[in-house]
Amino acid sequence: MLRGGIPIGKAFGISLRLNYSWFIVFALVTWALSVSYFPSEYPGWSLATRIAAGLITSLLFFGSVLAHELMHSIIAQRNGIPVRSITLFIFGGVSEITEEPKRPGVEFRMALVGPLTSLVIGGIFWAIWFWLRDTAEFLTAIAFWLGWINVFLAGFNLIPGFPLDGGRVLRSILWWRSGNLRSATRTASNIGRGVGYLFIFGGIWLIFLGNWFNGLWLAFIGWFLENAAVGSYRQLALKDMLEGHKVSEVMTRGCLTVSQGLTIEQLVNEHILASGQRCFPVAADGHVLGLVTIHNIKAIPRDQWQIKTVKEAMTPFENLKWVKPDQDLASVLGILTEDDINQVPVVEDRDIVGMVARDNLLSFVSVRGELGM
Ligand SMILES: [Zn+2]
Repeated sequence: MLRGGIPIGKAFGISLRLNYSWFIVFALVTWALSVSYFPSEYPGWSLATRIAAGLITSLLFFGSVLAHELMHSIIAQRNGIPVRSITLFIFGGVSEITEEPKRPGVEFRMALVGPLTSLVIGGIFWAIWFWLRDTAEFLTAIAFWLGWINVFLAGFNLIPGFPLDGGRVLRSILWWRSGNLRSATRTASNIGRGVGYLFIFGGIWLIFLGNWFNGLWLAFIGWFLENAAVGSYRQLALKDMLEGHKVSEVMTRGCLTVSQGLTIEQLVNEHILASGQRCFPVAADGHVLGLVTIHNIKAIPRDQWQIKTVKEAMTPFENLKWVKPDQDLASVLGILTEDDINQVPVVEDRDIVGMVARDNLLSFVSVRGELGM
């Protein structure tokens, strides 16, 4: 859900995107400011002034969120961790940071810089409010609210439940003290779940008191936190189980190869339906030319299956993502997730020796889980 979004630009080599859910929140914040907050604080303002203030304030608010995320990403990049994109969505922002930090000190700095940025921005807005409070009412009204919301953001993110920034800070400290990333993550994510439940119960309590809107909102955030805490621990546990194992342990061997002159019709009828195999290395004279998968075939309209050949449908070897037989399974999981693909060919000396798919990884993990290994 968080991957999709409209690109809005680039900063420090990181692409910036808006998720569709962001527009809903943007509209809600602008609306709440224009019809509720500004009219009650500044009853003399006209409707046009309130709407203008609402729009400017929510734009600057999301600019502040972006600055917060950008600082996380810059510190990550400086420590050699690649960052692909930042997406603004319903609760704020997510940085698509492709690797976990390798050392607790890096994670500590990476996590802490976000809330610190929000605090500094909040301080700047409050300073603007303080200096101009007797002269420019429009400006200072905006600055006051932005100061408050940024300080709130810093405080909220410092809640010590993983995967919030505060939870990451906590995890880095536990990790530094014990040297054990997995147990540090477990503790921090359990606290994260606890915080999530507290929010949910708080939300339900508010609903009982008759405060529906805030109650639902609080419970929703709690539910989100609880889910994120569980999800991030599972992901790490999965990575942990795969680490130290090689592709050759799980790959499917003996893939049937096909020749490039075959039509799609022939490929489907004679090979795919007959074998149940979902992807086929394409070879000529013992050389691998590419790979053709169900996904490639679906891209070709049905009425052209008799004319188009495997050569036209396949992904050429040069454009293929592939792995080596002795590569670590945890890194394969990373490749599959990052590129959102189902399988990669296993290549040795330009020869496809097997395939490794998500299913291979999952059954590897579930069998070991059942055996308690
Ligand atoms: Zn943050």
